[in-house]
Amino acid sequence: MVVGEFTTELDVLVIGAGPGGYVAAIRAAQLGKKVAIVDKSEVGGVCLNRGCIPSKSLISAAHRFEQAKDGHEIGINVGDVSVDMKKVQEWKQSVVSKLTGGVRSLLKGNGVEIIEGEALFVNENEVRVFHGYDVNRYHFNHCIIATGSRPIEIPALPFSDRILSSTEALTLDHIPNKLLVVGGGYIGIELGTVFAKLGAQVTVLEGSDGILPGFEKNMVQLVKKKLKKLGVEIHTNALASSSEVTDNCVKVTAKIGDKEEAFEADYCLVTVGRRPNTDELGLEAISMKMTDRGLIEIDKQCKTNVPNVYAIGDIVAGPALAHKASYEGKVAAEVIAGMPSEIDYLAIPAVVFSDPEMASVGLTEDQAKAEGYNVKTGRFSFGANGRALSVNETDGFVKVVADEADGRVLGVQIVGPEASDLIAEAGLAIEMGATLEDIALTIHAHPTLAEVTMEAVEAALGHGVHSLSK
Ligand SMILES: Cc1cc2nc3c(=O)[nH]c(=O)nc-3n(C[C@H](O)[C@H](O)[C@H](O)COP(=O)(O)OP(=O)(O)OC[C@H]3O[C@@H](n4cnc5c(N)ncnc54)[C@H](O)[C@@H]3O)c2cc1C
Repeated sequence: MVVGEFTTELDVLVIGAGPGGYVAAIRAAQLGKKVAIVDKSEVGGVCLNRGCIPSKSLISAAHRFEQAKDGHEIGINVGDVSVDMKKVQEWKQSVVSKLTGGVRSLLKGNGVEIIEGEALFVNENEVRVFHGYDVNRYHFNHCIIATGSRPIEIPALPFSDRILSSTEALTLDHIPNKLLVVGGGYIGIELGTVFAKLGAQVTVLEGSDGILPGFEKNMVQLVKKKLKKLGVEIHTNALASSSEVTDNCVKVTAKIGDKEEAFEADYCLVTVGRRPNTDELGLEAISMKMTDRGLIEIDKQCKTNVPNVYAIGDIVAGPALAHKASYEGKVAAEVIAGMPSEIDYLAIPAVVFSDPEMASVGLTEDQAKAEGYNVKTGRFSFGANGRALSVNETDGFVKVVADEADGRVLGVQIVGPEASDLIAEAGLAIEMGATLEDIALTIHAHPTLAEVTMEAVEAALGHGVHSLSK
C-alpha cells in the first residue's frame, strides 16, 4: 500500500482500546456516531491484558491455594496441596481471552470499526495509523485519546529477564524461591501477596515511610499483620540504588536509612508507578497542553485545549483506575454527542485487593475535617459479624464518616473480607446524598457482610444494637 493512499472519514476516532477507550467508543456508537477505535496492542488495554483481570485471577488462585492448605482450621483436611503454575497461567489466560473476545464482540455489535496499529497525529482532524508496512489516514470530527500508561523503569534497576515490571510478573509460569518487590504501592503488595501465598519468600522495599499510601494507617496495619504472617519482610525508607543481574539471580543494593543493605532474589519486581503514554502520539503537531508529568490537561467535560480532541483515563489527572477511565469515557462520548455530561469524582472508589481487602470511597475522617466539616463517625468490626465468622474471615472493620450537621454520608472505609464489593453500597449512598438514617433504615439481609456497614452507621447514630455505645 502507498503511504496515505486512503483517508477514512469518521465522526469519532478513539485512540486506545483499554477500559477508557472501548467504553467511550461503544457509548459514542450507541449515540449514533460513526466510530472507529485503534490500538497498537490487544483490545482491553492494560486492565484486561496486563492489569486488573490477570492480577485478580492470580490473587484468586493464591487465595484458594491458601484456603485449601489452611482448611484444617475449620475441620477440612486435604492431602498434599500443590500449585501447577503453568495451569494457573493457562486458566488466567483463558479468563483474559474470554473478556477480550467479549469486548471485540461488543465493539463490533455496536458497529465500531476496530483498527490495529499505532496512531500518530498529523493535525487536529487527522491521524496516521501505522501497522507493519501499512499506513492509513483517518479524518475525524472528534477524537478521544485513551492511550493509558506503562510501568516506570528506575535507571538503577533496568528491566531484564530478572528485573520485571508487573507485566512480566503476571506471566511467570513458576514460583520464585525469593522475590524482591521494589515499591509498596497497591500493585507491589497485591503481587507480593500472591507469590508469598504460593510459597515464595518475599521482601518489599518501599522508599517512603509506609506501604499502601492513601489508606488510613489502622487499615494498612491489618494488611501488614497478614503480610507478616505470610513471612513477607517489609523495609520502609528503603531506596534501591544499584543492581546486578547474573544467570540465575538478581542482586540489589538499597539504602535503608543511612545504611546500605544487599538483597539477593530470583527476581526483582519493580512497581514504582506508571507513566502516561503521551510521548509518542505526535501531540506536538496539535499543540496539546500537558502537565510537567506528561498528563493531558482536561476540563470537566474531558475536553483538551484542542477543541475537538478529548482525553480520558490514565493520561489525565486523578487515580489511575479502570473504573475512572470508563466513567470518563462515557462522559467524553456523551459530550461529543451534545449531552450536558460532566465529570463528578464525588464517589470514586479505590480498592486494593490485598489480604484483607481495602476499599475507600468519598472522604476519610481527616479529609472531611480538612474540608471544614464537623464529622461524626461510626465503626463496626467484622469480628462481631455472623457471616464473617461463618466464612472464617474476621479481620477488619467498616468506618463511616458523616456530616454532623445533617447526617449526610461523606465517606466510608472498609478493610476486611469482600471490601471490594461492599464498598458499592457506600458509593451509591454518597452519590445519592444519603444520610446515616437512610442506610440504617435499609433492611440488610442476614447473615451478610453488608450488615457490618449497617452496624457502623448505627454506631455513628449512637444506637448500635450489636455494639455498646461509646
Ligand atoms: C498490575 C495492575 C493491576 C491493576 N489493577 C487494577 C484494579 O484492580 N482496579 C483498577 O481500577 N485498576 C487497576 N489497574 C489500573 C488499570 O489497569 C488502568 O487504570 C486502566 O487500564 C487505564 O485504562 P486506560 O483506558 O486509560 O488505558 P489502558 O488500559 O492502559 O489502555 C491504553 C491502550 O492504548 C493503546 N495505545 C497506547 N498508545 C497507542 C497509540 N499510539 N496508538 C494506538 N494505541 C495505543 C495501548 O496498547 C493500550 O491497549 C491495574 C494496573 C496494573 C498494571
